[in-house]
Amino acid sequence: MQSFRPNNEMKSLPRALNFWLFALVILGAWAAIGSADASEPALELRVFPDGPIYAYQSDPARQRSNIVLHSLGVTNLASDEIEVSGVTFSLLEEGVVTQITTIGADEISQHAPSYRMAQQMGTFQRFDSVFGFTPLFGEGGRLSSARVLSEGRSLIFLSQYFSLNGNVDVLRVEVMAISQNGPVTTALDIPVVHYDPAAQYTFPLNGSWFVNVGPNHFSHHRWSQNSEFAIDAIRVGRNGRAFASDGQSVEDFYAFGAPVYAAAEGVVVAAMDGIGPAPLKGVDESFDDFFARMSARQSDLFAEDPLLAAGNFVIIEHEGGEHSVYGHLRQGSLQVAVGDRVLPGMQLGEIGNSGNSLEPHLHFQVMLGADRMWSRGVPVIFQGLAGRDSDVITRQLRSGDFVFSNHVE
Ligand SMILES: [Zn+2]
Repeated sequence: MQSFRPNNEMKSLPRALNFWLFALVILGAWAAIGSADASEPALELRVFPDGPIYAYQSDPARQRSNIVLHSLGVTNLASDEIEVSGVTFSLLEEGVVTQITTIGADEISQHAPSYRMAQQMGTFQRFDSVFGFTPLFGEGGRLSSARVLSEGRSLIFLSQYFSLNGNVDVLRVEVMAISQNGPVTTALDIPVVHYDPAAQYTFPLNGSWFVNVGPNHFSHHRWSQNSEFAIDAIRVGRNGRAFASDGQSVEDFYAFGAPVYAAAEGVVVAAMDGIGPAPLKGVDESFDDFFARMSARQSDLFAEDPLLAAGNFVIIEHEGGEHSVYGHLRQGSLQVAVGDRVLPGMQLGEIGNSGNSLEPHLHFQVMLGADRMWSRGVPVIFQGLAGRDSDVITRQLRSGDFVFSNHVE
């Protein structure tokens, strides 16, 4: 077990300044004696999710893409205090730095107290598969509310977004700090991967559909590692809306009850049915009120069981280890069971509004495992899918795409 000092960050802020001055004074002496203290690095850097970062192609024709570093954890392993002064993110292409961004001392000081408070309120624990607190710091991990880290204390950096030009292949993270032995710089190189799906996917719906939510950086999907590249598909009518009359029943939505098909060959490895539809937005209810109501409901669902968020669902394992997920299906509509082998285009169920859903839609994603909370989401490109101008879409889908699919007989 690690031992922790009492929570004294608040009163240690002035001390931090003294510490800085002290550090500057001894810097010369330290430099003079060279690397007197060549012991193991005092700061440990960890990222969540572990492994590479997958890029989303925002504009493949111009070689533009973007990445999200979901969570970075910095922990002081030394017994002496360490003051973190900044974090630098460098994007590298074949070893050449193409872009640098920095989080400065002020910004760290500003965010640290709120992250510490979030930990105390249990937010990180509740959404552990989103923020990765336990993988980063372990069960007993404790955040610091200031830049000065006593032994065992950590800082967390969330949702760092980078827009890339060209074929960036590494994100380098460098954390600058000062210990009483002098400056400490700890670096970590994270591979950036422009992912090619192992399986071939066809769009899991037939006819014309609107990609209400894609993996764009402004979508809620993107900030959660498992749903990072997910899409939500709805159907829009000639009236320009998703429903025919007043949207007060699920049956009024054009998408509701539409058949959902397997996107690729595989075996059903998980399935759930029996969850009824989520409540809909009231006619006179404002979007803000509806959203507040649904956010509270989402918190309740997560507290009860985070797995309820997808409602009724099917997960298919494909050759190569990828898994496709079909969420929010209609109660009682599932036509497959665990163990069934399916072919592309075989019906799995129907679109519903179960789980954490604002309106009837299909949530579709591809992951690198069967665990809906912890498996990593990866980008997908659908075969033979036409766009609004009827040309074939050869890129990853984005929010606002109209797509047309007629591969299912
Ligand atoms: Zn979704």
